[in-house]
Amino acid sequence: MRRISLLGATGSVGTQAIDLISRAEAGAYQVVALTGARNIALLAEQARALRPEIVVTSEPGLLEDLREALTGTGLDCAAGPEALREAAARPADWVLNAIVGAAGLVPGLTALENGATLALANKESLVAAGPLMMRRMRETGGRILPVDSEHSAIFQALAGEKLDALDRIILTASGGALRDWPLDKLETATVAEALAHPNWAMGQRITIDSASMFNKALEVIEARELFGVRPDQIEVIIHRESIVHSMVGFTDGAIMAHLGCPDMRHPIGYALNWPQREPLPVARLDLAKMAKLSFEAPDEARFPALRLAREVMEVRGLAGAAFNAAKEIALDQFLAGQIGFMDMARLVEATLDLLSTDSGLHNDAGSLEDVLAMDHLARVRADELSAGFARAPRQA
Ligand code: NDP
Repeated sequence: MRRISLLGATGSVGTQAIDLISRAEAGAYQVVALTGARNIALLAEQARALRPEIVVTSEPGLLEDLREALTGTGLDCAAGPEALREAAARPADWVLNAIVGAAGLVPGLTALENGATLALANKESLVAAGPLMMRRMRETGGRILPVDSEHSAIFQALAGEKLDALDRIILTASGGALRDWPLDKLETATVAEALAHPNWAMGQRITIDSASMFNKALEVIEARELFGVRPDQIEVIIHRESIVHSMVGFTDGAIMAHLGCPDMRHPIGYALNWPQREPLPVARLDLAKMAKLSFEAPDEARFPALRLAREVMEVRGLAGAAFNAAKEIALDQFLAGQIGFMDMARLVEATLDLLSTDSGLHNDAGSLEDVLAMDHLARVRADELSAGFARAPRQA
């Protein structure tokens, strides 16, 4: 029996992980910790089915609701950031970090500090604190298994290969919901328009990040940290069909591509079963029915987030923490109708520019405290700067 913890169980990745677990033989898994935030009804329903040792909501104000929803189950529950940290620290064979945003950093790092095998969907933690997380992983003998489909594809393409034979990583990107919009019309894109992803069903935040390519920008930085490559070894290519999940180019000129239907249960299941491959309930590709696979270079005027990611990697230090935090504020502001779609990148860039003087952006991400301090500062600055971009509230 494998002991597993599911952090962010109520989200898009979390529920797909539970779908896979619920198909396994009875007794294959013991769930140690199950965590969510605001969706107490779903968290309680999952807890009743999975019978974890502890159920946690990150929202302290929702503890009573959770307690009430678990009445009669005999299950332990707790709430708040410290409870979340304790849940992540519980001994487990496998910990899924499917929390969205920088809130995933402390629980993920805590799991690594306890030597866990961390199945990592939460890319934001690697962007904010990659060197720190990778150091902790090496110190404790922990392990990170990528869950992001692109990084899972790269990880699978690298299996059995020597890292010094790796020449380049080619990250594929669908281009998101607005990929065919004229550049000038992008300024007026609404939340609903940005949410209409052509290929993937994902959480709200990552879907908007897909349309703006901030998601790909985070993934470029994530790839650098996970695979230890130089920034110039990472390429991004638009691939509309989302069939090739990413590619690895080797020094002998060969390219290994990972293909499959766009279904997150593949990378989640690969990480869950690793190092084995087990049957997964995902559709099989019918190559004969596929008319074509297309590839095109991304236009950086349309997707300024990609340029910003390169600048962040040049600075390194605490720039990743600032970038992610400013991006989260920009996304909040866009979701709230306070700034326009293209203003998100402008706000992030303005925040990085402001922080590049006298704010320690170049300092090493030596400790969690340094990272959290930069995260906080960037949020404050982005919030202040956003007033300069504010416009009449737009329709959702
Ligand atoms: P969702 O928004 O669907 O789910 C997020 C999860 O995190 C929920 O369980 C939510 O709880 C919980 N949560 C929200 N805020 C907090 C907080 N402050 N503290 C603790 N928990 C919190 O996100 P996704 O599943 O889409 O994404 C999760 C992560 O996986 C992200 O980092 C994303 O980039 C990454 N990812 C997602 C993919 C996808 O297909 N969705 C693909 C690849 C990567 P509740 O719902 O109860 O409020």
